[in-house]
Amino acid sequence: MIPMLDIKRELAVIGDEIKEEVNKSLNSTQFILGPNVKEFEEKAAKYLGCKYAVGVASGTDALHIALKSIGIKDGDEVITTPFTFIATAEAIVYCGGKPVFVDVDEKTFNIDVNKIEEKITDKTKAIIPVHLFGNPCDMDRIKEIAKKYNIKVVEDCAQSFGATYRGVQTGNIGDVGCFSFFPSKNLGCYGDGGMVTTNDEETYKTIVALRNHGSFVRYYHEMIGFNSRLDDIQAAILKVKLKYIDECNRDRRSVADLYKKTIGNVVGYQIETENGINVYHQYTITSEKRDLAIEALKEAEVASAIYYPVPLHLQKAFKDLGYKEGDMPVAEKLARTVFSLPINPYLDDSEVVVISEIVKKSLS
Ligand SMILES: *Cc1c(COP(=O)(O)O)cnc(C)c1O
Repeated sequence: MIPMLDIKRELAVIGDEIKEEVNKSLNSTQFILGPNVKEFEEKAAKYLGCKYAVGVASGTDALHIALKSIGIKDGDEVITTPFTFIATAEAIVYCGGKPVFVDVDEKTFNIDVNKIEEKITDKTKAIIPVHLFGNPCDMDRIKEIAKKYNIKVVEDCAQSFGATYRGVQTGNIGDVGCFSFFPSKNLGCYGDGGMVTTNDEETYKTIVALRNHGSFVRYYHEMIGFNSRLDDIQAAILKVKLKYIDECNRDRRSVADLYKKTIGNVVGYQIETENGINVYHQYTITSEKRDLAIEALKEAEVASAIYYPVPLHLQKAFKDLGYKEGDMPVAEKLARTVFSLPINPYLDDSEVVVISEIVKKSLS
């Protein structure tokens, strides 16, 4: 069986180091906002090149807290992509805001920057670009639009830890960056975890308060906040895994390269954004006949997955927003044709070749 994600192989390589750090965290008995959280935040901020990084309980919370920290409230509109995980848009609704979807670009699978301006109204307060599958968005254009209309940019970097745009890390380009450390992400812990990044001191202070019941000093509460802290044990794990992130992302890129060489002529695939370095959280291809490939892979005990089968504007949960089929033709077409193949740093070239052969044969 070739799985999508291979934590067993990961543990065979770095398991001892992780267990040692987890043991140290246990022995410290400082489980809530303990020393590993602080150390990891400092190391992550340094890696990303930003001033501040704040560990929180999940990527979903990171988005929620980020939007709160820039003041998103009842009636505000926030522009984002319909081709993403639901958490991106849920966070807008949690703040009382309204998600406004802009269709995606068929090549990069990311928000179509040429269609953003027509959706901006006087209620628009922010844009959430999602660096989907690790592929950075066209941030030059997004920042230009944000500046013109005086709106904030909150990056959803849940799938893009280590990806860069013009040499700058995603999460250090907009006003606020949001990361997820869900186990399957490029930088994943062994439970739930997330992080918010910014270079603005005031925003940073608000984020720090929001994650801990609106409090800087214990039992003195400046605002209504959340219980959303990164666990010390998870931070200990992340500290170890951060050391290897560049190596892991490099290995993912070489798997993607090999896939492209072997099946690039029989399927469509995500094109890297100009000036961006994709870290391939997923290797996602398109085919009108995807069911045949998925079935053949299953027969051969190779995992595959569809991210995402229903675009957000057609989800039942968002039916009140009033979208209908045909409103986002590119996202709808991708939802109908995409599927993702196993990709992780521990996948051998020979396995990639085997998977490619199965896909090629099933589609020929
Ligand atoms: C995973 C993910 C999230 C949510 O992160 P969690 O840690 O699972 O809460 C948000 N946005 C995107 C694009 C994601 O892939």
